[in-house]
Amino acid sequence: MKKTAARRDFIKLSALALGGLALGPVSAKAEFRSGLPLPGIIGSGKKLNIVCLGAHPGDPEFGCGGTMARYSEAGHQVTFLYITRGEASDPQKTYAEMAALRTKEAEVACAILNATPQFFGEIDGNTVLDKDKNAEMEKQLAALNPDIVFTQWPVDGHPDHQVTGMLALTAWVHAKRQYHLYFYEVNTGVETMGFTPTDYVDITSTHEKKKAAMFAHKTQDPVNTYNDYFKPLEEFRGLESGVKQAEAFIHFKAEGERAVILGLK
Ligand SMILES: [Zn+2]
Repeated sequence: MKKTAARRDFIKLSALALGGLALGPVSAKAEFRSGLPLPGIIGSGKKLNIVCLGAHPGDPEFGCGGTMARYSEAGHQVTFLYITRGEASDPQKTYAEMAALRTKEAEVACAILNATPQFFGEIDGNTVLDKDKNAEMEKQLAALNPDIVFTQWPVDGHPDHQVTGMLALTAWVHAKRQYHLYFYEVNTGVETMGFTPTDYVDITSTHEKKKAAMFAHKTQDPVNTYNDYFKPLEEFRGLESGVKQAEAFIHFKAEGERAVILGLK
Protein backbone atom coordinates (compact mmCIF):
# COMPACT_ATOMS: atom_id res chain seq x y z
CA MET A 1 0.00 0.00 0.00
CA LYS A 2 1.30 3.43 -0.91
CA LYS A 3 1.92 5.52 2.15
CA THR A 4 0.98 9.15 2.30
CA ALA A 5 2.56 11.81 4.46
CA ALA A 6 -0.54 11.83 6.60
CA ARG A 7 -0.17 8.12 7.19
CA ARG A 8 3.24 8.64 8.64
CA ASP A 9 1.75 11.05 11.14
CA PHE A 10 -1.09 10.36 13.51
CA ILE A 11 -3.68 8.31 11.71
CA LYS A 12 -7.13 9.49 12.53
CA LEU A 13 -9.93 7.00 12.42
CA SER A 14 -12.69 8.50 14.49
CA ALA A 15 -14.85 11.30 13.16
CA LEU A 16 -14.59 12.98 16.53
CA ALA A 17 -10.83 13.25 16.22
CA LEU A 18 -10.68 14.40 12.60
CA GLY A 19 -10.76 18.06 13.54
CA GLY A 20 -7.10 18.78 12.94
CA LEU A 21 -4.74 17.14 15.39
CA ALA A 22 -2.64 15.70 12.60
CA LEU A 23 -2.57 18.67 10.28
CA GLY A 24 -3.60 21.82 12.11
CA PRO A 25 -1.26 24.45 13.52
CA VAL A 26 -0.11 24.42 17.12
CA SER A 27 -2.19 26.63 19.37
CA ALA A 28 -1.13 28.10 22.68
CA LYS A 29 -1.94 25.97 25.69
CA ALA A 30 -4.51 28.50 26.83
CA GLU A 31 -6.53 27.66 23.74
CA PHE A 32 -6.76 23.95 24.52
CA ARG A 33 -10.13 24.28 26.18
CA SER A 34 -11.60 26.74 23.72
CA GLY A 35 -13.70 24.16 21.94
CA LEU A 36 -11.87 24.88 18.69
CA PRO A 37 -10.40 22.02 16.66
CA LEU A 38 -7.49 20.45 18.48
CA PRO A 39 -4.07 21.99 18.10
CA GLY A 40 -1.71 20.15 15.78
CA ILE A 41 1.35 18.43 17.13
CA ILE A 42 3.13 17.20 14.03
CA GLY A 43 5.08 19.27 11.57
CA SER A 44 4.59 22.53 13.43
CA GLY A 45 8.24 23.15 14.21
CA LYS A 46 7.50 23.64 17.90
CA LYS A 47 9.67 21.59 20.24
CA LEU A 48 7.30 19.62 22.44
CA ASN A 49 7.74 18.25 25.94
CA ILE A 50 6.49 14.68 25.92
CA VAL A 51 6.12 12.82 29.23
CA CYS A 52 5.33 9.11 29.28
CA LEU A 53 4.35 7.46 32.56
CA GLY A 54 4.84 3.75 33.17
CA ALA A 55 4.26 1.73 36.32
CA HIS A 56 7.41 -0.34 35.79
CA PRO A 57 10.60 -0.05 33.77
CA GLY A 58 9.61 -1.40 30.35
CA ASP A 59 5.97 -0.32 30.31
CA PRO A 60 6.57 2.86 28.24
CA GLU A 61 9.00 1.02 25.96
CA PHE A 62 6.70 -1.94 25.27
CA GLY A 63 3.51 0.13 25.16
CA CYS A 64 4.61 3.06 23.03
CA GLY A 65 8.37 2.94 22.41
CA GLY A 66 7.90 3.28 18.67
CA THR A 67 5.90 6.48 19.06
CA MET A 68 8.36 7.87 21.60
CA ALA A 69 11.23 7.16 19.20
CA ARG A 70 9.39 9.09 16.51
CA TYR A 71 9.01 12.06 18.85
CA SER A 72 12.67 12.06 19.84
CA GLU A 73 13.80 11.62 16.23
CA ALA A 74 11.68 14.65 15.34
CA GLY A 75 13.59 16.71 17.91
CA HIS A 76 11.07 16.69 20.73
CA GLN A 77 12.00 16.24 24.40
CA VAL A 78 10.87 12.85 25.73
CA THR A 79 10.83 11.95 29.44
CA PHE A 80 9.89 8.53 30.80
CA LEU A 81 8.51 8.81 34.31
CA TYR A 82 8.65 5.38 35.93
CA ILE A 83 6.34 5.12 38.94
CA THR A 84 8.37 2.25 40.47
CA ARG A 85 11.73 0.61 39.79
CA GLY A 86 10.26 -2.89 39.39
CA GLU A 87 11.54 -3.92 42.81
CA ALA A 88 9.22 -6.89 43.27
CA SER A 89 9.78 -8.70 39.98
CA ASP A 90 12.16 -11.42 41.21
CA PRO A 91 11.52 -13.17 44.54
CA GLN A 92 15.09 -14.53 44.49
CA LYS A 93 16.49 -11.00 44.78
CA THR A 94 16.08 -8.22 47.33
CA TYR A 95 14.12 -5.12 46.37
CA ALA A 96 17.35 -3.11 46.40
CA GLU A 97 19.11 -5.56 44.06
CA MET A 98 16.18 -5.68 41.66
CA ALA A 99 15.69 -1.92 41.70
CA ALA A 100 19.34 -1.43 40.79
CA LEU A 101 19.15 -3.94 37.94
CA ARG A 102 15.95 -2.57 36.47
CA THR A 103 17.01 1.05 36.85
CA LYS A 104 20.07 0.21 34.77
CA GLU A 105 17.93 -1.52 32.15
CA ALA A 106 15.63 1.51 31.99
CA GLU A 107 18.62 3.80 31.50
CA VAL A 108 19.90 1.66 28.62
CA ALA A 109 16.42 1.61 27.01
CA CYS A 110 16.04 5.36 27.41
CA ALA A 111 19.44 5.95 25.80
CA ILE A 112 18.29 3.93 22.77
CA LEU A 113 15.08 5.97 22.47
CA ASN A 114 16.77 9.27 23.35
CA ALA A 115 14.47 9.70 26.34
CA THR A 116 15.30 10.96 29.82
CA PRO A 117 14.43 8.59 32.68
CA GLN A 118 12.87 9.87 35.89
CA PHE A 119 11.56 7.87 38.83
CA PHE A 120 8.52 8.69 40.96
CA GLY A 121 9.52 6.61 43.99
CA GLU A 122 6.59 4.27 44.56
CA ILE A 123 7.15 0.55 45.27
CA ASP A 124 6.42 -2.18 42.72
CA GLY A 125 3.34 -4.23 43.61
CA ASN A 126 2.34 -1.78 46.30
CA THR A 127 1.66 1.49 44.52
CA VAL A 128 -0.56 3.92 46.37
CA LEU A 129 -3.14 6.30 44.97
CA ASP A 130 -4.02 8.88 47.57
CA LYS A 131 -4.13 12.61 48.16
CA ASP A 132 -0.37 12.91 48.80
CA LYS A 133 0.63 10.87 45.74
CA ASN A 134 -1.74 12.84 43.56
CA ALA A 135 -0.19 16.07 44.83
CA GLU A 136 3.34 14.73 44.19
CA MET A 137 2.45 13.73 40.64
CA GLU A 138 0.83 17.08 39.95
CA LYS A 139 4.01 18.80 41.15
CA GLN A 140 6.38 16.53 39.20
CA LEU A 141 4.39 16.91 35.98
CA ALA A 142 4.12 20.67 36.44
CA ALA A 143 7.92 20.84 36.70
CA LEU A 144 8.19 19.00 33.38
CA ASN A 145 5.70 21.41 31.75
CA PRO A 146 4.36 18.80 29.31
CA ASP A 147 2.58 19.46 26.05
CA ILE A 148 1.48 15.84 25.92
CA VAL A 149 1.31 13.16 28.63
CA PHE A 150 1.05 9.48 27.80
CA THR A 151 0.02 7.04 30.52
CA GLN A 152 -1.29 3.55 31.04
CA TRP A 153 -4.95 2.78 30.49
CA PRO A 154 -6.29 2.27 34.02
CA VAL A 155 -8.69 -0.55 33.14
CA ASP A 156 -5.98 -3.16 33.56
CA GLY A 157 -5.47 -6.32 35.55
CA HIS A 158 -2.31 -5.01 37.19
CA PRO A 159 -3.00 -2.69 40.15
CA ASP A 160 0.20 -0.68 39.49
CA HIS A 161 -1.01 0.04 35.96
CA GLN A 162 -4.37 1.18 37.35
CA VAL A 163 -2.62 3.56 39.74
CA THR A 164 -0.37 4.91 36.98
CA GLY A 165 -3.33 5.73 34.77
CA MET A 166 -5.25 7.41 37.55
CA LEU A 167 -2.27 9.43 38.84
CA ALA A 168 -1.93 10.99 35.39
CA LEU A 169 -5.64 11.52 34.93
CA THR A 170 -5.98 13.24 38.30
CA ALA A 171 -2.94 15.44 37.69
CA TRP A 172 -4.36 16.41 34.29
CA VAL A 173 -7.68 17.43 35.86
CA HIS A 174 -5.90 19.45 38.56
CA ALA A 175 -3.78 21.11 35.87
CA LYS A 176 -7.05 22.28 34.29
CA ARG A 177 -6.54 19.94 31.30
CA GLN A 178 -3.90 22.27 29.86
CA TYR A 179 -2.04 19.53 27.98
CA HIS A 180 -3.02 16.55 25.88
CA LEU A 181 -3.56 13.21 27.61
CA TYR A 182 -3.20 9.88 25.81
CA PHE A 183 -3.54 6.37 27.21
CA TYR A 184 -1.52 3.44 25.85
CA GLU A 185 -2.03 -0.30 26.12
CA VAL A 186 0.19 -3.14 27.33
CA ASN A 187 -0.47 -6.87 26.95
CA THR A 188 -4.00 -6.24 25.75
CA GLY A 189 -6.22 -9.20 26.56
CA VAL A 190 -4.05 -10.16 29.51
CA GLU A 191 -3.46 -6.87 31.32
CA THR A 192 -5.09 -3.94 29.45
CA MET A 193 -8.84 -4.42 29.01
CA GLY A 194 -11.64 -2.57 27.25
CA PHE A 195 -9.25 -0.54 25.10
CA THR A 196 -10.88 1.03 22.04
CA PRO A 197 -8.27 3.22 20.29
CA THR A 198 -8.98 6.67 18.95
CA ASP A 199 -5.55 7.21 17.37
CA TYR A 200 -2.90 5.10 15.68
CA VAL A 201 0.77 5.86 15.06
CA ASP A 202 2.73 4.17 12.29
CA ILE A 203 5.87 2.78 13.97
CA THR A 204 7.25 0.93 10.95
CA SER A 205 10.25 3.28 10.75
CA THR A 206 11.10 3.07 14.46
CA HIS A 207 10.15 -0.53 15.05
CA GLU A 208 13.72 -1.84 15.25
CA LYS A 209 14.69 0.89 17.69
CA LYS A 210 11.67 0.04 19.83
CA LYS A 211 12.66 -3.62 19.81
CA ALA A 212 16.18 -2.77 20.94
CA ALA A 213 14.74 -0.73 23.83
CA MET A 214 12.38 -3.54 24.79
CA PHE A 215 15.16 -6.09 24.65
CA ALA A 216 17.27 -3.93 26.98
CA HIS A 217 14.97 -5.16 29.75
CA LYS A 218 16.85 -8.43 30.02
CA THR A 219 15.35 -9.42 33.37
CA GLN A 220 11.85 -9.39 31.84
CA ASP A 221 12.17 -12.26 29.36
CA PRO A 222 11.79 -9.69 26.58
CA VAL A 223 12.11 -11.99 23.55
CA ASN A 224 9.22 -14.24 24.60
CA THR A 225 7.20 -11.29 25.89
CA TYR A 226 7.64 -9.56 22.56
CA ASN A 227 6.91 -12.61 20.42
CA ASP A 228 3.89 -13.74 22.45
CA TYR A 229 2.19 -10.40 23.10
CA PHE A 230 3.63 -7.26 21.56
CA LYS A 231 4.53 -8.47 18.08
CA PRO A 232 0.97 -9.69 17.37
CA LEU A 233 -0.45 -6.52 18.90
CA GLU A 234 1.62 -4.08 16.86
CA GLU A 235 0.85 -6.04 13.69
CA PHE A 236 -2.86 -6.11 14.54
CA ARG A 237 -2.88 -2.36 15.21
CA GLY A 238 -0.99 -1.99 11.93
CA LEU A 239 -3.69 -3.94 10.08
CA GLU A 240 -6.37 -1.77 11.64
CA SER A 241 -4.67 1.40 10.48
CA GLY A 242 -3.30 0.27 7.12
CA VAL A 243 0.41 0.15 7.94
CA LYS A 244 2.87 -2.60 8.79
CA GLN A 245 3.20 -1.92 12.52
CA ALA A 246 1.36 0.57 14.69
CA GLU A 247 0.77 1.60 18.26
CA ALA A 248 -2.71 2.59 19.36
CA PHE A 249 -3.91 5.20 21.83
CA ILE A 250 -6.97 6.64 23.48
CA HIS A 251 -6.90 10.43 23.30
CA PHE A 252 -8.74 11.56 26.40
CA LYS A 253 -10.20 14.92 25.55
CA ALA A 254 -11.32 17.76 27.71
CA GLU A 255 -15.02 18.41 27.55
CA GLY A 256 -14.64 21.50 25.39
CA GLU A 257 -12.78 19.46 22.77
CA ARG A 258 -15.38 16.74 22.50
CA ALA A 259 -18.13 18.62 20.74
CA VAL A 260 -16.33 18.62 17.40
CA ILE A 261 -17.19 16.64 14.31
CA LEU A 262 -15.68 16.80 10.84
CA GLY A 263 -16.94 19.75 8.84
CA LEU A 264 -18.55 21.48 11.80
CA LYS A 265 -17.04 23.72 14.44
ZN1 LIG B 1 3.95 -2.96 34.18
